[in-house]
Amino acid sequence: MHATHGKLTGKVAAITGGNRGIGLATAQLFRAEGARVAIFGRDEATPEHAALLGADALGFAGDVTSIHDVKAFFQAVEQRFGHLDVLFVNAGVSKSAPIADVTEDFFDELFDINVKGAFFTVQQALPLLGSPASIVINTSMVNQVGYPALSVYSATKAALRALVRSFAAELVERGIRVNAVSPGPIATTLLTRDIPDAATRDAILTGIASAIPMKRMGTPAEIARAVLYLASDDASFTTAEELVVDGGMSQF
Ligand code: NDP
Repeated sequence: MHATHGKLTGKVAAITGGNRGIGLATAQLFRAEGARVAIFGRDEATPEHAALLGADALGFAGDVTSIHDVKAFFQAVEQRFGHLDVLFVNAGVSKSAPIADVTEDFFDELFDINVKGAFFTVQQALPLLGSPASIVINTSMVNQVGYPALSVYSATKAALRALVRSFAAELVERGIRVNAVSPGPIATTLLTRDIPDAATRDAILTGIASAIPMKRMGTPAEIARAVLYLASDDASFTTAEELVVDGGMSQF
């Protein structure tokens, strides 16, 4: 059951990377706030994930590096819901390596998914977006602070920050706001998926948490609430902005 007086009642929202982590938490919150939701993920089970969100949810499996897949996703959104009010550009991957170990494939994969994927997601969504509408792009606090072994990932997120400003400038006359949510370390599988050993994973997560002023990682739900703010009319005079949600990590 979803709200009839929620912050997104009557709205249609699309979320890339909506089948787990921050994207799924956002899809759940958007549903609770009354939105109809379309989620896009690589996992072939994405339509099944969407079914768990209720009857007003659509799930589409595809890869954001394929413009064909992204186009097909928005065609499915149009067929099912007719238009779009909110777009959360969230699909992304993180990989770390010292400068000397970065291969061309490593570099290209991060830029293809995080930057090219985001750019063409916005491009392909534009014909469906009404006015007013809101686009939120998931960057990261690492676009503001330097960390060893994160140079390529940080560069992809800094590129997204630049896209937010340029998109906002280009789309302001269409009544489309464009903002970034910039999370600190969040408890999802993003950071540790490639580490099979549970003890090593736990040690890494404990180390990360101890470096955060609040001494804990954030939760996907805490990012979802920031995305909801930017996506909803609560942020009706906010565009080109970046909302940092990082337990103080980038500030002191
Ligand atoms: P998850 O790994 O849990 O989720 C990533 C999502 O992106 C998944 O739904 C995944 O789909 C999707 N995705 C990845 N690559 C592709 C692709 N090529 N095509 C389609 N979908 C894809 O991580 P998070 O929820 O943590 O990450 C979400 C976003 O948040 C990312 O952009 C990340 O950079 C950003 N972020 C995360 C932080 C963190 O600490 N967790 C901190 C700062 C920013 P599938 O499952 O099908 O592969």
